[in-house]
Amino acid sequence: MKPIYLDNNATTKVAPEVIEAMLPFLHEHYGNPSSMHSFGGNVARHLRAARAAIAALLGAQPEEILFTSCGTESDNAAIRSALETQPDKRHIVTSRVEHPAVKALAANLKKHGYRVTEIPVDKFGRLDLDRYEASLTPDTAIVSLMWANNETGVVFPIERAAALAKAQGILFHTDAVQAVGKVPIDLSRGAVDMLSLSGHKLHAPKGIGVLYVRKGTRFAPFLIGGHQELGRRGGTENVPGIIALGKASELAAAKMSDENERVKRLRDRLERGLLEQIPNAQINGDVDSRLPNTSNISFESVEGEAILLRLNEYGICASSGSACTSGSLQPSHVLRAMGVPFTMAHGSIRFSLSVYNSDQDIDLVLEKMPSVIENLRALSPFWTTDGAACSGTYSVQ
Ligand code: PLP
Repeated sequence: MKPIYLDNNATTKVAPEVIEAMLPFLHEHYGNPSSMHSFGGNVARHLRAARAAIAALLGAQPEEILFTSCGTESDNAAIRSALETQPDKRHIVTSRVEHPAVKALAANLKKHGYRVTEIPVDKFGRLDLDRYEASLTPDTAIVSLMWANNETGVVFPIERAAALAKAQGILFHTDAVQAVGKVPIDLSRGAVDMLSLSGHKLHAPKGIGVLYVRKGTRFAPFLIGGHQELGRRGGTENVPGIIALGKASELAAAKMSDENERVKRLRDRLERGLLEQIPNAQINGDVDSRLPNTSNISFESVEGEAILLRLNEYGICASSGSACTSGSLQPSHVLRAMGVPFTMAHGSIRFSLSVYNSDQDIDLVLEKMPSVIENLRALSPFWTTDGAACSGTYSVQ
């Protein structure tokens, strides 16, 4: 069965054009770009072209692009660099809804004596800008706010937030892992100092990431070793990955507005169809400021994981907003931060689309989903026969 893949915020298919571009760098042009011979020098030339393509997608300069292994490394490198280059500052500002690549690092830094402020969001997942502005102090070493949320797709006002930090001389990092290729980004005119992205979220393979570091920003390397990346990240470059990301960036830049408009139409049709057919369902997140490909929908009084298993039987791949930890189902920290009621948060499903989805994919979900929910609700102790959820809470250890 060919999967109906609606889990593109988890990872994406590598584009055929990207595979074609990277393959010669596995078996033909396999030289080390740092070598003195022309066999390596040829690779270095292609690497420069890929760096320029990625920079162009972001409105950046090629020398502001630093290759890493993934989004998590980029996030860690940005935050740790800010702390290392400003040892007298001990405060970090972030949000309650960050990806663990930032959230877990901040929690770890707290254990090591740093002060962390997590800015709350409202019920639509929107950042509290007043609380954010009030949180900035002379002791703040760095702000790290995500451009777009991986679970709900909500897009934060990053340019405004970065400008507020800049006005106080505070470094600003954004985790744009979910935003790059889905919303226009032009770093040339903004106040963002550092930005993370990850290849496998935009149709390049896993194992390649980027940290953008604005020219003039003091930077302390995360991986200390060789002279690669102008001494900012040791380790022989992942050449096939970099070539792949260069090609993926070119594709994203060329097709972004048309393709994202088509993806958004598919996503909106999916949401409309589900909400029309299924009672007691809601969209989570600010519908006026969302990624075009992401839909987070809650179905009251059913377990998200049970929905996923049923969808899996039809070859439909999605994600759930609750995760099984230590035998208990915990709604995600994002939905909890938004105050989504428990019986809704438990039944949340994230559908995330890509350019490879079609109307047929959406048709299948719209055909299967109503009976999946109806059957699960028939088994739920929290759903009454007249179609209403009864009050009561799940017990979570
Ligand atoms: N940040 C966000 C918003 C993400 O969605 C992800 C991955 O899901 C990451 C960071 C981590 O990226 P990677 O898997 O490349 O480490």
